[in-house]
Amino acid sequence: MQLPALSFEFFPPKTEEGRLKLAATRKRLLAAKPEYFSVTFGAGGSTREGTLQTVADIHAEGHTVAPHISCIGATRDSIRQLLETYHSLGIRKIVALRGDLPSGYGAGGEFRHAIELVEFIRNEYNDFFEIWVAAYPEYHPQARSVQDDLAHFVAKMKAGATGAITQLFFNSDAYFHFVNQVQAQGVSQPIVAGIMPIENFSSVARFCDRDGAEIPRWMRRKFESMGDDASSIRSFATQTIADLVSQLASVGVPGIHFYTLNRAEPTLEILQALGHIEVG
Ligand SMILES: Cc1cc2nc3c(=O)[nH]c(=O)nc-3n(C[C@H](O)[C@H](O)[C@H](O)COP(=O)(O)OP(=O)(O)OC[C@H]3O[C@@H](n4cnc5c(N)ncnc54)[C@H](O)[C@@H]3O)c2cc1C
Repeated sequence: MQLPALSFEFFPPKTEEGRLKLAATRKRLLAAKPEYFSVTFGAGGSTREGTLQTVADIHAEGHTVAPHISCIGATRDSIRQLLETYHSLGIRKIVALRGDLPSGYGAGGEFRHAIELVEFIRNEYNDFFEIWVAAYPEYHPQARSVQDDLAHFVAKMKAGATGAITQLFFNSDAYFHFVNQVQAQGVSQPIVAGIMPIENFSSVARFCDRDGAEIPRWMRRKFESMGDDASSIRSFATQTIADLVSQLASVGVPGIHFYTLNRAEPTLEILQALGHIEVG
């Protein structure tokens, strides 16, 4: 099956061992010919050095890399410094986010919403950076209302975003409905589907319950029915996500962004099931 552009997201490893492991993961994922890798950034700057290091590693290998920047709790100066570093390295793709401060961190900072970061980057660097932002097909968990959330998303796109990457979802209707709604409000940029391979169902379920992504009842029940049968869980997870990607690709989704959690196998198995890469 012909797939759209693929991208793979990593989080910055905390140890030297993790850094080496991630380099090996990257090497394996190259079989899928991704358009780029992206690297998350802990809100409040908690992973600042780790993100910079991982971005520099990927860039030094000659691959396209998109650093995430989350602005909550940050000052204009600290964001300017980060952007200057990326600018001087010739990195031109950024994923611009608000982020969620850990509890007890307090408010502070000079940005309240991602739209302010988009405006800041456009003001300071014109069109140098591609700016990708976050989208929530099932709406952001803190949104006051659906209308409010859509209006904020549309404003963020119109402030100069290149495109958006969605929160993970398992219900493709939510994605199609979201895209239709924002296109009707004049958004014409690509909205890339964020896809999470399932390796550990209970941790994915916890994440979804917290971040407001629905796991369809049939899927949840099927996983729960498998108990500890790791091989059945793995093959069902692979096939279910491959079917979702296949459905999205068949209607021309502009890109698929895999939340890899720094693991190559689950993503590669999905891409093998789709015939995108050879089984090896
Ligand atoms: C692809 C992707 C990658 C991510 N990577 C990271 C990462 O690296 N680091 C990290 O910390 N987090 C990351 N996140 C999580 C993200 O930071 C959180 O979900 C956060 O809660 C929202 O970020 P946002 O950029 O969508 O915020 P915003 O666009 O600011 O929206 C957040 C909320 O505020 C509301 N809002 C927006 N503008 C306004 C306004 N002007 N007035 C009032 N309300 C408004 C929105 O409706 C929404 O409810 C990622 C999410 C995605 C989908």
